[in-house]
Amino acid sequence: MESLTKTPIFRSKSKQPAMWTLLLVVLFSSQFSQAEWFHKTWPIMGTETGARFWLDDPNFSDPTQQSEALKAQQQKAQELLELVRQEMHRIDVIYSPYIDTSALSKINAAAASTPQLLSQEFAALVDKALWVSQASGGAFDITYASVGHLYDYRNKIAPGDEDISKTLPAIGSDRLLWDRKNRTLAFTHPLVKIDLGGLAKGYAVDRGAEILRHHGIKHGSVNAGGDTALIGDNRGRPWFVGVKNPRLTGEEKNWQEQQVLKLPLINEAISTSGDYERFFIDEQDGKRVHHIINPRTGKSSNGLISVSVFGPQGINTDPLSTAIFVMGVEKGLNLINSIQSYEAVLITDTGKVLYSDGLVDPNAN
Ligand code: ADP
Ligand code: MG
Repeated sequence: MESLTKTPIFRSKSKQPAMWTLLLVVLFSSQFSQAEWFHKTWPIMGTETGARFWLDDPNFSDPTQQSEALKAQQQKAQELLELVRQEMHRIDVIYSPYIDTSALSKINAAAASTPQLLSQEFAALVDKALWVSQASGGAFDITYASVGHLYDYRNKIAPGDEDISKTLPAIGSDRLLWDRKNRTLAFTHPLVKIDLGGLAKGYAVDRGAEILRHHGIKHGSVNAGGDTALIGDNRGRPWFVGVKNPRLTGEEKNWQEQQVLKLPLINEAISTSGDYERFFIDEQDGKRVHHIINPRTGKSSNGLISVSVFGPQGINTDPLSTAIFVMGVEKGLNLINSIQSYEAVLITDTGKVLYSDGLVDPNAN
């Protein structure tokens, strides 16, 4: 369901009686300007996506034209929101594994028999995925989908051991014949499938933020599930992005209580991978079956239960958070510490919170 909220906020916070306000308007009319937060969410990419921004209206200098200026501003805001929605939708339609006509589905259906030509954009995403795969020693691998597509979290379905061992040989970057120059991709095993779900949302929020920046937005955010791109600051203060407690009891009353910590961020992207996003509990062994798959085992990764990564770009924070989730504490911290400008917060299944080298542990003396 779509929702639209907006809070009109005038820059002048004066609580003068009306007469004084009028006088001030007349005296200082040229200094008045109309600005508001705008916000909208859409169900895209199987999650809630949304955008929020502060829109200044530089044309509002004459108070007699207030209603015209307001109308124009509202219209501009709706247009910007629509541009972001369309971009998210465009990305979904191309890269969704759940849409039969998506470019991704077509490649999955055909690349085992014939090399498939990829668009420039698709090629750039494959390059990024291969880079993270290499950097993570295969913990992040888009061919995880060879087994990943057999999971159905909504209907509590997981592949059995037999199906897993049948598909494991179809996992690994060496199952991809990637001709960078000609932009063709082929699979070297008949059961190979790829899925860009580990980086598509990070890419989508980058694109949404780029669109808003291009249209002059200085303060805002674009969000898709666990991935957020922040534009500038929150009007003079940093944005505070919460890292959710991965094991909420349901007793927590408000947002504050639901967070393990809050990260002050400016102009950065942040991605969180958690085992609580899409999961079910296996009735046989009581284990949590969730959507982050260890490519070596074909099963849900365990050890870490939440990983947040932040840094300049969502296209990096998204796959890195998934990669670190699978790599575990030691290897995961080594990876993030080797990448400049990116930091991470890890939470283990025993509730321990770990920080990358560029962060100060708030509990350390
Ligand atoms: P979310 O999609 O909820 O933001 P993540 O960023 O952690 O969560 O990404 C999980 C998604 O990444 C899965 O839904 C799946 O599409 C994909 N994925 C799962 N395991 C792997 C893996 N080992 N390598 C690459 N992609 C993966
Ligand atoms: Mg991710």
